[in-house]
Amino acid sequence: MADDRDRETLTYSSIRAFRNCRKMYDLRYNQHLAPIDEDSEAQALGTIFHGSMERWHRRDMAIPVGQAINAILEYIDGACPDRITDDRQKKIWHLARAMFLGYIKKYPSDAFDVVAVEKAFESEIVNPETDHSSRTFIMRGKVDGIIVKDGKHYLLEHKSAATIDGNYIDRLPMDFQIILYSDYIERFMNIRIAGILYNVVGKAQIKQGKGETVEEFQKRRAELIAKSKTGKTSAKQWVPESDEEFQERLAKKYSENDMFHREMLIISRENFDVLHSEIWELTQQLLLARRTGQWYMNTDYCFHYNRPCMYFPICRSGGNPLVIENRYRIVPPHSELDGAGDNLEPMFT
Ligand code: SF4
Repeated sequence: MADDRDRETLTYSSIRAFRNCRKMYDLRYNQHLAPIDEDSEAQALGTIFHGSMERWHRRDMAIPVGQAINAILEYIDGACPDRITDDRQKKIWHLARAMFLGYIKKYPSDAFDVVAVEKAFESEIVNPETDHSSRTFIMRGKVDGIIVKDGKHYLLEHKSAATIDGNYIDRLPMDFQIILYSDYIERFMNIRIAGILYNVVGKAQIKQGKGETVEEFQKRRAELIAKSKTGKTSAKQWVPESDEEFQERLAKKYSENDMFHREMLIISRENFDVLHSEIWELTQQLLLARRTGQWYMNTDYCFHYNRPCMYFPICRSGGNPLVIENRYRIVPPHSELDGAGDNLEPMFT
């Protein structure tokens, strides 16, 4: 068998990219291109949210809980060092704090034991017909956590979502990522994964009040007076909402039940059989694409999330080198394995 170091890494993200658009795979995983402004607000918040959950669930139970909370709030502060001058960082900081504080209030203790957090794995990709391992590829990934409940192992998966509704929950059993992770973790750790505990936290959509200038107030006041039967108004100039006031408003929002949801799903073993065949088939198609140099575009996918794919400027320009030079940079693939995130697409956001 080939040495692991000689084999090429496949991850959930890279397989998903190849499945959805081969051109996307080629640009990210062969050419190592990533947009210069890739670090979206959602990704930055997701990284801090996962970091908070990781620290909370692996905390030393021997230290006072207040000390653990303070350490995590300090981590959030450190992740947003420019929040005083940078509005985007300020917004992420507020939300990350409120999500974490709301979470520990909602779930001050858990009816399960956390046995691993941010667990990295690597496993063979096996041909289901011959039982032989791939000599070219190896599967790598990282799961948010592994828990034990009533003597059974479950994956713990943290998700942040703009809306937690019936549609969102209905789609969870179709989550290709988690079926894949369950299967490979089983083989890597030699344990049986009974299911997945999805731990979903909502992203509050409220914004910090910015206040209004004197001119804006005068204009609004004039409009109110024009509409008033008495020709008067008691309107006052809006002042900016302080950080404390906004945190208070966010805390109230996060005291609502629909900002959190936990869903326990049991894995069907049949899902694994289908997955093995599909993953093997994809590796064969990947080898074929590499041999022929054909990385087909799936143009139905360019606006899949009602916004352009991050490589749309390249594809639209026919691969113009100037577009690539000005809008993209070289980033090593699989950065999610280092904790940096490598999301080409939003996941249920
Ligand atoms: S823009 Fe369209 S064709 Fe190009 S990589 Fe993205 S999904 Fe594929």
